Amino acid sequence: MTKNITFNSDIIIGILGGGQLGSMLAIAANKLGIKTHVYSSTKDSPAFNYATKHTIADYSDQIALRNFVKEIDIATIEFENIPQKTLNYISDYVPLYPNKESIFLSQDRYLEKNFIRENGIDVANFIEINNKEDIKKWDFNSKPGILKTRKFGYDGKGQKLVSSIKMCEEYFINMNNSPCIIEEVIPFDMEVSTITTRSQDGLIEIFEPSKNIHKNHILHTSNVPSGLSNILIERLYEISTSIIRKLNYVGVLSIEFFITNNNIIVNEIAPRVHNSGHWTIDGANISQFEQHIRAISNMPIIKTKTLHPSEMLNIIGDDICYWGKSNSSDTRKIHIYGKTEIKKGRKLGHVNYIKRS
Ligand code: ADP
Ligand code: MG
Repeated sequence: MTKNITFNSDIIIGILGGGQLGSMLAIAANKLGIKTHVYSSTKDSPAFNYATKHTIADYSDQIALRNFVKEIDIATIEFENIPQKTLNYISDYVPLYPNKESIFLSQDRYLEKNFIRENGIDVANFIEINNKEDIKKWDFNSKPGILKTRKFGYDGKGQKLVSSIKMCEEYFINMNNSPCIIEEVIPFDMEVSTITTRSQDGLIEIFEPSKNIHKNHILHTSNVPSGLSNILIERLYEISTSIIRKLNYVGVLSIEFFITNNNIIVNEIAPRVHNSGHWTIDGANISQFEQHIRAISNMPIIKTKTLHPSEMLNIIGDDICYWGKSNSSDTRKIHIYGKTEIKKGRKLGHVNYIKRS
């Protein structure tokens, strides 16, 4: 049974996942007087540094999960790849935001793309690949494709550009024959994303879209304003609103788009706060993290406003050696995640450059 919440400090939010997104959610909750309990399978998770309490256990550890749900009032996630059984269990005990159906959808590219297309929104052409035979259904003579695993892909992992049946077969085998899709390559002019929040009573707020540049498939910079026309921005808001409503979603939903010849194509959705929304910490009147905590705690969400043109730069791998010793200033805000190991391609912090007028 959920208890009757009368004041913020009565609430304990359970956060599944202990990375930087979990840290920034816990920091935002602290600011509102809300306690957090971070559950992570990794011993030195950075979010433990900010949480009121933490649990280190596997995501399918029944005993740990039972204790966890007893101690929290609301649950949320910082990454989508949590076992479905775990999400089913948690949502039987406490309200889980976003709802488990939205999380399940985002765990599988094939289901996600079908859902978006069924709602009349464009996605890149794709086909389902369950075996070698399916690969022959893609016409490589007219266009190459991107082979992507349906599940567990992130930062470009689990995807390959393929230009022939033979090449595609090799990568499919390399990917252990796991269910995949082949997707059309979009010659995009720009990649952008929206960060949309929906409250429990259905109010919706959207941060200004950011223009995103990836390097080696990993987000490098996000810029606001994006430079898109007002017509395209309005259309992005309409699409984001229709997706979040359709999912009956509470909290922050992130959507990645390709813009090509003034057309909008949805690339993917993430049922959580997003790297491309980190600029909001220093560049907007409220951060994506606080907006999410407000929505799931049934507090009023805030009308979003960009305060400063901003650029977010990710600190990746060895870059930390420089940024870890640098100072923030009025126009440059450095955020270091406190991860213990430097690895190539690992996100270790970010810098928000803000242009003050
Ligand atoms: P991930 O889950 O790794 O973020 P994405 O599908 O978003 O997977 O792919 C990562 C990046 O690879 C995208 O942001 C984009 O730069 C590039 N990419 C992915 N799919 C396509 C595509 N169909 N056409 C062109 N570029 C793509
Ligand atoms: Mg992506």
